[in-house]
Amino acid sequence: IKIAVPKESELGELRVALVPDTVSRFVKLGFEVLVQTGAGLGAHFTDADYELAGATIISSPSRLWGEADLLLKVGPPGIQHGQPEMNWLKAGSVLISFLDPLANPERIQELAQRKITALSMELIPRSSRAQSMDALSSQANIAGYKAALIAAASLPRLFPMMTTAAGTIPPAKVLVIGAGVAGLQAIATARRLGAVVEAFDVRPAVKEEVQSVGAKFIEIPIEEDTATNGGYAKEVGQSTQERIRQVLTEHVKKADVVITTAQVQGKRAPLIVTEEMVGEMKLGSVIVDMAAGQGGNCACTEPGKDVYYNGVTIIGPLNLPSSVPIDASQVYAKNLLTLVKYLVKDGEFNFNFEDDIIDSTCVTYEGEIRHAKVKQALS
Ligand code: NAD
Repeated sequence: IKIAVPKESELGELRVALVPDTVSRFVKLGFEVLVQTGAGLGAHFTDADYELAGATIISSPSRLWGEADLLLKVGPPGIQHGQPEMNWLKAGSVLISFLDPLANPERIQELAQRKITALSMELIPRSSRAQSMDALSSQANIAGYKAALIAAASLPRLFPMMTTAAGTIPPAKVLVIGAGVAGLQAIATARRLGAVVEAFDVRPAVKEEVQSVGAKFIEIPIEEDTATNGGYAKEVGQSTQERIRQVLTEHVKKADVVITTAQVQGKRAPLIVTEEMVGEMKLGSVIVDMAAGQGGNCACTEPGKDVYYNGVTIIGPLNLPSSVPIDASQVYAKNLLTLVKYLVKDGEFNFNFEDDIIDSTCVTYEGEIRHAKVKQALS
């Protein structure tokens, strides 16, 4: 099987699907690996590093895509040198990348029409069995860490308590809203930097995890069911959301930093921090809204920008994993290696749809769309 690793075309994307170390593992397993010239440069891996690992470097993107039996990418196919990359894929090949299927069902339809078998990394089940392939988690972990660092660097105060000859500086107060993978890592990082942290999540099950990383859990009694069978949060009703905002108002007011990470799969991110809440925050406070790309958890967020509102800085970062491209690529490549080893038996693809990992991740196969919600969105 010929694997191809293209240069990512999305503006600002510095990650690469495979790092030299994983290339050499694929080569040892009997795969042939082609890497586009400069594909790893954003993550500081040179063509020479890839060649040393056993890859062949190819400069023409159309040749690279066209030769692939298996194309491994970070983001979905985009535009390169003014050409839609999708045009270069050969029928019958397999594509694995983040594909954001619910946000862009038309792309999935086009892949099916072109007879590309596509696997979407967002759809890897969040189960212990699939943990080592779980790219949402590997990337969210990095994003949560970076969000806490951005908050600390942007705050005009220190995070830790400092007792000095010149007096005692109290620790910063950090509030984390949404305690999934990113939120828990943001809590742990803010704690390591010395801040006092409290956190809230609609799923009461995370209380113990929040406490285990050193934060206080804010309890808000919620009567409705807030989690799906898959463990994701459900969209809560208007009145519950209003009640959450009411309770959080006091906590937001006292915080020096608010890091928001709340997301609901396939939906706009819930609006939790209103303009009025921001208006009541202390001058110099900082909000890092990790849901900026999904509509934002804060009413003042502008995706990809820093906004100054009444003395508060609201940061809406997009693609935080790409700001740590070496490690983000390293763990993503490991996720891909595990998935591909799982998918390929004796040098051949083995699409066993009895297996829940393959079944839920594979969105197109033999010209058909295999994802119920994508089909529904297109009908
Ligand atoms: P996510 O990015 O979808 O959402 C982030 C957090 O926001 C979640 O914890 C969610 O409950 C919370 N949230 C949603 N609406 C909210 C609201 N209105 N107010 C406050 N918080 C809100 O979450 P994720 O990090 O991708 O994790 C999703 C699920 O997958 C979790 O249950 C997690 O524990 C689980 N998971 C399991 C494994 C595993 O078993 N291997 C690995 C990773 C994640």
